[in-house]
Amino acid sequence: MGEQASRATKKSAKSAPKGAKRSVKAESRLAMVRRARRINRELAEVYPYAHPELDFRNPFELLVATVLSAQTTDLRVNQTTPALFAKYPTPEDMAAAVPEELEEIIRPTGFFRAKAKSLIGLSVALRDAFGGEVPGRLEDLVTLPGVGRKTANVVLGNAFGVPGLTVDTHFGRLVRRWKWTEQEDPEKVEAEIAAIFPKSEWTMLSHRVIFHGRRICHARKPACGACPIAALCPAYGEGETDPEKARKLLKYEMGGYPGQRLAPPPDYPGRPAPPLVTGPANGGSAE
Ligand code: SF4
Repeated sequence: MGEQASRATKKSAKSAPKGAKRSVKAESRLAMVRRARRINRELAEVYPYAHPELDFRNPFELLVATVLSAQTTDLRVNQTTPALFAKYPTPEDMAAAVPEELEEIIRPTGFFRAKAKSLIGLSVALRDAFGGEVPGRLEDLVTLPGVGRKTANVVLGNAFGVPGLTVDTHFGRLVRRWKWTEQEDPEKVEAEIAAIFPKSEWTMLSHRVIFHGRRICHARKPACGACPIAALCPAYGEGETDPEKARKLLKYEMGGYPGQRLAPPPDYPGRPAPPLVTGPANGGSAE
């Protein structure tokens, strides 16, 4: 078991409620907001190194990687982008790409024809309308082909330091489990969560929640028995509550496996991802 996992488990062993799924009394808005902010503080302790899990060196690379990440894992994108950026380092280069050649490089990420069209389209727009630079405003970013609000927020938050919430599948699932919102529509989720936290927290909150969703609070088998915020979670008991069994469900650095980035930040306590897919030992499923 990795150091991170033992830390998570120690905390949960101390605070986890006994028994299965707990019944929740009606909670006031104020109590929910306090609980939500406490979860955020606890997650900040568990994942002080939370970060975007796409490898990038500049805003253009992050934009391209985020477009490629639709319907696939960040790991698969990270294994694909080194060759892509070696061949097309700038928007000008990518705008002039032969579609079939670009498709071949990004094929491992799936939906490669549509993604190639988006990448060439957005590169042409960057070259012709934005002087070859990625714009730092939401309203400009969403005009680019293949770029929606979620992608724009990822780029703004991580390449421009503009606070933004990333409502992906993990984020939506967890905030509903925690009863921070009942909304299903990502834009409504974003608005309700934005009202709970100060702007300055939005980007790191997104990373922490997504880290927790990928490592512990999985869609099908949440590892409740190894969860450091079990005492604050109304959905405790939806997953495995036995600590031993729950620990076996942990992923990435929490389970002692490599992470998703080939070039993780220096404070990442786990191992970098391998350049090629090596099977189940990479700890990375579709989550
Ligand atoms: S559902 Fe389980 S794993 Fe997810 S946050 Fe709640 S206690 Fe933790």
